Amino acid sequence: MEKTKLIAELKGIVGENGVSTDERVISDCSKDYIGFRQFERGAGKHWEPKAACVVSPQNTSEVSAVLRFLNSHKIPAVPRTGGSSVTLGVEPQEGGVILNGSKMSGVAALNETDMCVTVCAGTPLEYLENYLNKRGYTTGHFPQSLPLAQVGGLLATRSIGQFSTLYGGIEDLTVGLEAVLPDGEIIRIKNSPRRSVGPDLRQIFVGSEGTLGFITEATLKIFRYAPENRWMRAYSIQGMKNGLAALREMTAQGFRPAVVRLHDPIETERDFGAPAPQGYCLLLLLAEGPKTIAAAIGEGVDGILKEFGVVDLGVKPVLHWLEHRNDVCADLDKYKYYRLGAIADTCEISAPWSEIGDIYEAVLERTPREVPSLVSIAGHSSHSYAQGTNIYFTFGAAADKDKPETARGIYMSVIRVIMEETLKRGGSIAHHHGSGKYRTRWMPEEHGSSYGVMYRLKNALDPNGIMNKGVIFTDVK
Ligand SMILES: Cc1cc2nc3c(=O)[nH]c(=O)nc-3n(C[C@H](O)[C@H](O)[C@H](O)COP(=O)(O)OP(=O)(O)OC[C@H]3O[C@@H](n4cnc5c(N)ncnc54)[C@H](O)[C@@H]3O)c2cc1C
Repeated sequence: MEKTKLIAELKGIVGENGVSTDERVISDCSKDYIGFRQFERGAGKHWEPKAACVVSPQNTSEVSAVLRFLNSHKIPAVPRTGGSSVTLGVEPQEGGVILNGSKMSGVAALNETDMCVTVCAGTPLEYLENYLNKRGYTTGHFPQSLPLAQVGGLLATRSIGQFSTLYGGIEDLTVGLEAVLPDGEIIRIKNSPRRSVGPDLRQIFVGSEGTLGFITEATLKIFRYAPENRWMRAYSIQGMKNGLAALREMTAQGFRPAVVRLHDPIETERDFGAPAPQGYCLLLLLAEGPKTIAAAIGEGVDGILKEFGVVDLGVKPVLHWLEHRNDVCADLDKYKYYRLGAIADTCEISAPWSEIGDIYEAVLERTPREVPSLVSIAGHSSHSYAQGTNIYFTFGAAADKDKPETARGIYMSVIRVIMEETLKRGGSIAHHHGSGKYRTRWMPEEHGSSYGVMYRLKNALDPNGIMNKGVIFTDVK
């Protein structure tokens, strides 16, 4: 469809102010925080394939009318809310439309009896957490991107927060939701503490990254907020594999401190100013909930950890982490690493306990050999389960400031090693950032024989393939 006609039709649905063709607005809404894009932007190179416009509906009916129109004309759409994607998940198609949900913001209902809150997709998580704290509650959901992310994006990416060992990921926190299918149909999956009425349809939309529909509203669990009850402790522990074995024992025995973070010796020195002896890992623990339970968890894990030769470092490193854990969000657009001539980023994977230590060691051994410009690679475990844990690799590589187009190749050569070593050992290639467009090529291997079911879902819900092309699915017709 001709661009002028497209814009006029969309304005007819959401009004004059609901459609922007301003180059700066389009560029801002196309911005993704993956490391090599940050490097490119530092060099003044911005995302080129331009969306025709940004459409910002005010409510579910407008989302429905917009999608019905786009679907009937087979015009590609990329949903977004907070825009904190780090996977190329929000980059639009040439001539397509950015469907921006961030104008749909606010708390629709707080239900203190049923311990849940219903919020619109564009509600900033930070606003929601402050709103709840003032009333004595918390979401229990603290991704590092808390100052940036919004509810729709959190659900769409299967986000996880730093207190996940107690509260779980967003998939555990979602009580019910409303979504608009690509053909404009509005569906509501009702709130329920649990039910047995067929497969759980919430989980089709949680993690769908905008490929199966647009999430317009979510009902989330809430918890009593009592930070004064916290038990906190830091320990040093020798060796990453020994540290992982300690985490395994803690979770196997049934202990669930909200925060469980094991930083390898490189991160311990680089990010925490070496509170532990050289070559040691730093373990940060925080338990919360009712005071007696938090204290009992503290006593229990302390006893287990002594068997692993830990040294108690007190609470200071935990307090330091708590205070600075979201600082990186304020630095994102300052191009700090570009100015140093470096690409820096993270990549998170997960695996069973029996494999995770070997994946960590293989990645640290292979990347310096295979990526000549690698400056550093390190990692931590920050989300643990009875069956395994994640490793969040943090890496930096030198890149030529005058040749920003080479950054992507360097970046992907690090990612390739992480993906290969993870898949080789039966791990999962994305623990919480999602596939986006940059991990799609590994999706067939990740999903194996179940990948075809994902396609059947995609073809059933989005037969014209208009929603977020290139994400999760390798070749949508
Ligand atoms: C500094 C930093 C730290 C981060 N830390 C964490 C972390 O601790 N844990 C974590 O899980 N993630 C983290 N992330 C990644 C990111 O913040 C999360 O993926 C977050 O959930 C994205 O929310 P958003 O509102 O910004 O979504 P967006 O960036 O707007 O979109 C993300 C994806 O969801 C889709 N989408 C957005 N809204 C909708 C909707 N309403 N309906 C359907 N699809 C939609 C988009 O198409 C896109 O594919 C971090 C990112 C940054 C930059």
